Amino acid sequence: MTRAEPTLAEEHEALIQFLYMAPIGLLQARLDGEILMVNPLCAQLLMPLSRDGDLSNLFSALEGVAPDLRSRVQGFPGPHGLVCEGWQLRVAASTRQGTGHSILALTLLKLDEQRLMAVLGDVTQSVQHERELRQSQAWINTIVTGLTDYALLTLDDQGRARDWNASVERVTGHGEASTLGRPFSIFYPEDAIDPMGTQDRLQEADRSGWSLDEGWRLRADGSRFWGSCLVAPLHAADDVLPEDRAYSLVIRDVSDRREATEALRRAVSCDHLTGLANRRALFEACELEMQRWRRAPRPLSLVLIDVDHFKRTNDEHGHAAGDAVLRHLAAGLSATCRAMDVVARLGGEEFVVMLPGCDGDAATAVAHRLCERIAAGMVSVDGKGLRCTVSLGVASMETGVDGVDALIERADLAMVAAKAAGRNRVVRWQPGLRPAAAAAEAR
Ligand code: GH3
Ligand code: MG
Ligand code: MG
Repeated sequence: MTRAEPTLAEEHEALIQFLYMAPIGLLQARLDGEILMVNPLCAQLLMPLSRDGDLSNLFSALEGVAPDLRSRVQGFPGPHGLVCEGWQLRVAASTRQGTGHSILALTLLKLDEQRLMAVLGDVTQSVQHERELRQSQAWINTIVTGLTDYALLTLDDQGRARDWNASVERVTGHGEASTLGRPFSIFYPEDAIDPMGTQDRLQEADRSGWSLDEGWRLRADGSRFWGSCLVAPLHAADDVLPEDRAYSLVIRDVSDRREATEALRRAVSCDHLTGLANRRALFEACELEMQRWRRAPRPLSLVLIDVDHFKRTNDEHGHAAGDAVLRHLAAGLSATCRAMDVVARLGGEEFVVMLPGCDGDAATAVAHRLCERIAAGMVSVDGKGLRCTVSLGVASMETGVDGVDALIERADLAMVAAKAAGRNRVVRWQPGLRPAAAAAEAR
């Protein structure tokens, strides 16, 4: 059985229902304003405007808020067209909280020489939101332009600058062209942060709500300043689409704090003899890298360095000469490494270099460079030139290495193997390397 065609009456009924239910106020009036048809929502919106509940004429109803509507319609030149569009009408309204006002948006169409159509909507909330947005924008602009030692910008999901303003130039010297689309690592000295590091910062901000670090920052002209960088997510926590993620970055020039911060950092984390990171700082840095590794594995290696026959140096030239050699070695290690590497004195005449982003091959290459540089160098102590060599062990992070100690232990085993093989060389950890004592027993 085929469905019967709807009758004209049914179609008419459906159309009336459609207009009746429309979630927007609709009204038809004569050119003199007399209302011919009005849907319930429109009547509800107009009711507060009508005196004594009379809703027979549109112009009379809107007299108080749009007094020139009538003359506009009368003076409208064409046979049909838009008389007004999106006019905002402020209507006093009494609410439960007291009296306030709502805002209606009115669009009026001349349909033909007889009829007008009005479309009316309540836009109170969106106007309110818009105003709040404008206010906070003005507020942010005041901050951005008013505070001299802050730079504020937004970053995309890859940590690239999405906007630029005068504060960026004031603090970093970077203009629009050298900022937009570039990763925020441009504000860091070379080697201080790598692409993985940038991602780590964003992820940390996602997890904890923000990520803060303080240290040397780079200006466009290559000069440095002591600054803090605060990264905070702008997207909602449950925004899962990566491309929708955005972050704010606040760079602050805190040069006046550098002395105090540096002194504190030195006191807590520096080795007093060499100025390198101490054991505690090394373990902290390693622990942080390992946490990152567990979240998203990326190469991470350690090189453990032990001075060869150092007892002899002490015995032959005195303890002070030994100290000078250690200081000289420390300076050499630092100079050979990148800013993001951690060079530490583990204790005595043992050093560790932690190399984020370096796999076993890369770390072994670094170890060879260190080994050669030290063997080729000469330390002058009391007019005498002293030479020394080191033995180096390399170990890399992989599954099964369950902590900083375990990784250092592997590097130590490799270093001991380097000693056993004749010193002044590099050995990379491999399965089967046993502690020296066990190896001796097995012989
Ligand atoms: P090898 O490692 O090649 O096997 O020989 P080594 O002589 O270096 O071995 P060992 O570990 O036995 O000696 C390390 C020496 O380092 C012993 C200690 O007197 C000296 N030492 C440790 N800390 C310091 C320090 O702060 N200053 C000086 N001058 N010497 C130190
Ligand atoms: Mg030793
Ligand atoms: Mg030694």
